[in-house]
Amino acid sequence: MSNTKYVYSFGGGTADGRTDMKDLLGGKGANLAEMASLGIPVPAGYTITTEVCTYYYDNGLKYPASLDAEANEALTKVEEIMGAKFGDPGNPLLLSVRSGARMSMPGMMETILNAGLCSATIPGLIKKTGNPRFVYDAYRRLIMMYADVVMEKAAGVEPAEGHGIRQQLDHMLEKVKNRNGYASDADLTEADLKTLVDGFKTKIKEVLGEDFPDDPYEQLWGAVGAVFSSWNGKRAISYRRIEGLPDEWGTAVNVQAMVFGNMGDSSATGVAFTRNPATGENKFYGEWLVNAQGEDVVAGIRTPNPLNDDTKNDQNRHLDSLQQQMPEVYEQLFGIRNNLEQHFHDMQDIEFTIQEGHLWMLQTRTGKRTGTAALNMAMDMREEKLIDDRTSVMRVAPAQLDELLHPIVDPKAEAKADVLAKGLPAGPGGAIGKIVFTADDAARWAARGETVLLLREETNPEDVEGMRAAVGILTARGGMTSHAALVARGWGKCCIVGAGALQIDSLGRKLTVGGKVFNEGDVLTLNGTRGLVYDGELAMIDATENPRFAAFMEIADSIRVLKVRTNAETPSDAQTAIGFGAEGIGLFRTEHMFYGTGSEEPLFILRKMIMSDTVDGRRTALDELYPFVKKDIKATLEVMAGKPVTIRLLDPPLHEFVPVSDGERTKLAEALGMSMADLDRRAEELHELNPMMGHRGVRLGVSYPEISELQFRAILESAAELRADGVEVDPEIMVPVVGMKKELEAQLALAEKVHAEVCEKYGVKEIDYLYGTMIEIPRACLTADEIAETAQFFSFGTNDLTQMTFGFSRDDIGGFLPEYLDRKILAVDPFQVLDRDSVGRLVEMGIEKGRTTKPDLKVGICGEHGGEPNSVEFCHKAGMNYVSCSPFRVPIARLSAAQAQIQFPRD
Ligand code: PEP
Ligand code: MG
Repeated sequence: MSNTKYVYSFGGGTADGRTDMKDLLGGKGANLAEMASLGIPVPAGYTITTEVCTYYYDNGLKYPASLDAEANEALTKVEEIMGAKFGDPGNPLLLSVRSGARMSMPGMMETILNAGLCSATIPGLIKKTGNPRFVYDAYRRLIMMYADVVMEKAAGVEPAEGHGIRQQLDHMLEKVKNRNGYASDADLTEADLKTLVDGFKTKIKEVLGEDFPDDPYEQLWGAVGAVFSSWNGKRAISYRRIEGLPDEWGTAVNVQAMVFGNMGDSSATGVAFTRNPATGENKFYGEWLVNAQGEDVVAGIRTPNPLNDDTKNDQNRHLDSLQQQMPEVYEQLFGIRNNLEQHFHDMQDIEFTIQEGHLWMLQTRTGKRTGTAALNMAMDMREEKLIDDRTSVMRVAPAQLDELLHPIVDPKAEAKADVLAKGLPAGPGGAIGKIVFTADDAARWAARGETVLLLREETNPEDVEGMRAAVGILTARGGMTSHAALVARGWGKCCIVGAGALQIDSLGRKLTVGGKVFNEGDVLTLNGTRGLVYDGELAMIDATENPRFAAFMEIADSIRVLKVRTNAETPSDAQTAIGFGAEGIGLFRTEHMFYGTGSEEPLFILRKMIMSDTVDGRRTALDELYPFVKKDIKATLEVMAGKPVTIRLLDPPLHEFVPVSDGERTKLAEALGMSMADLDRRAEELHELNPMMGHRGVRLGVSYPEISELQFRAILESAAELRADGVEVDPEIMVPVVGMKKELEAQLALAEKVHAEVCEKYGVKEIDYLYGTMIEIPRACLTADEIAETAQFFSFGTNDLTQMTFGFSRDDIGGFLPEYLDRKILAVDPFQVLDRDSVGRLVEMGIEKGRTTKPDLKVGICGEHGGEPNSVEFCHKAGMNYVSCSPFRVPIARLSAAQAQIQFPRD
């Protein structure tokens, strides 16, 4: 008999568990325990731990031997507290069975309600409640859920599309409603339900070949097993993959006494947020339905009522609020809302049920929120002294900042446009895309590079992959707390739900609204912040500078020790980056002037230089090229006004610049006075089979010192001229693709020679600059102590370092990465998230060796990882001085650096 405790009880003002036991009890179980301990009314219950889930999967779907006895003991406690007995014919207790992972996975796993209803207990419950209609309604719900979740999904039955048992039973229910002209489920009579229940049982036997179980304990354990199975259901797996949650966590199972929101007009159920999850406003925010069970609110089938005046909007203004209809219960709920915020110091997402006027809390958890709401709440709660500076900085996920900096629909364009439809603003920002009608289509279209909006009749957790692939989500039904709204909000994705005017025909791939018909592929614009839909494409603008954002970032800056620079090559990018808070340029890629708009002229001269096969020919071309190189460098140094600017020598293989088309080659041959045959021969010479490991980086400077000289001169002359004009400059010259100290020495000799010449030309004694290197080849990490004898700084080029560490071509990884991720050979793309086990170790070794030679060696990173939160944390822990990333990621890096300092403080 093991000593492991597998079952934790809660209820009646006490609990075995606590909120900090989420790993073991799951989020829901841990917080139910905490609420019970706080004296908040929670129906009694018990949590079967996540360890049982792990055990279950490790042991061929078997439970630990001691589980049964522990669960029975816990059930006895529940029975004592609730004053009823499970399976008792006279005074039966009914149970709910729900999942609960460490992190909430809204709607991704299964729930069974009303377990314990069977032929033996039905008469007792009818007697107890005096409400046979209610009892048969509860029974038909149990049968529908159980058949779907336990007897079909958990049993691995895979019905044909549209022929699941749930749909078949739904269809039977609809038939009864239609036959009798009923508008809603609430119109079904006791007699209807009795007949339906019998029909359901026959149907289940016919379709699934088994009887619906009439034994309460068989129902209970069937439900527990189904919840564990749902951890490995399709939806849950997809969701975990998208959210990066480990499969090993497992789910807990919460077995809890049922309370009923569907016992008549003094009963209700609802969900609420202690503050507005879309805007962050400090207003209690929620939805409720009278005479309903919880699933009715989240399933988005009925438009829910507003909780209070603050929650009223155009869709629900005509409906009564809880505040109006049950003021006393509302006051109690409002008190609990305050109590929970004071206790958890964070916005809570709660579920409640009112059974015949008596309030029960079913769940509290930290609420998902948009980036805007996260920022506003963090700043408000700090001002309310609910949290301190550090906590406020931890409250906004770096990825959420993205959303704050993202485009919105231009209000000027909106003012002129006609609104096509109105819905609820479930996820913020603007989105323009082609409409598609199924999640599969969304994923398929997005995979081929289309920008799509996913249109659905109602929110459905099975659409998770398609929701992810779409830039925006639009549904005709559902409320602010529906699954899709929660999921989209968690991702910061533009989403509008409950746009009732939309008539969506998914099968026919058609949308009808406002007398117009839209087909698959037509373009719409969504304003997710206001819930407005427009025909066609409206202009978008960047979200304007928000003073709250600036204040928040200042707090983060006061905490972080890691500096944040940017990768930029033009004065305008540099200016943008300064606006985002960049403290310097960590990578100025000289070759950028040869790509894109305005590059024709310098590129042609560069090609002349490359294709000429004499030093003189090259020098003539370089003289022509010089003004272009100097112009960008000087302008960028000027914009940065004394902030460090790391200018990297030309890196790409010359191969990349060799003209391919005959027209280009003819033009070049003419300009160079060469024959086409000679030019072709020269091109042949420059051709490389593997250019990324070929003639590039410092190797160019070794073969063609005149190219390096040109760049040294451009940098040093720009510095001399700007300093003469009174502009401060701080240039750092960086040599790429270095593997040997000797390469660096050879380039340094050239730099010193040019330095002397430039000093003489400008009549100055010294032009200050730093001379350093990229560390992007494993050999450079391994010999970093030697390299640091020559280099004054290191900047880790983790793009190339990842390429060479994994042996994955950075240009070709797309061909096999999806499979590697699917098969879990890789957890993430190592070109996005720095691989600490390999690349990270090389980086650590490089820093340690470099600083053995030069204890104060300045170290940074300029690979793409420099703007990725997890990698920034690594750089902080590794003792780097700065990270450098693209301008838009600068705020993300600043916040990540602050969070890293809070979690892993260093000097
Ligand atoms: C790197 O390799 O990480 C780097 C920044 O250089 P590039 O991406 O230009 O090769
Ligand atoms: Mg590189």
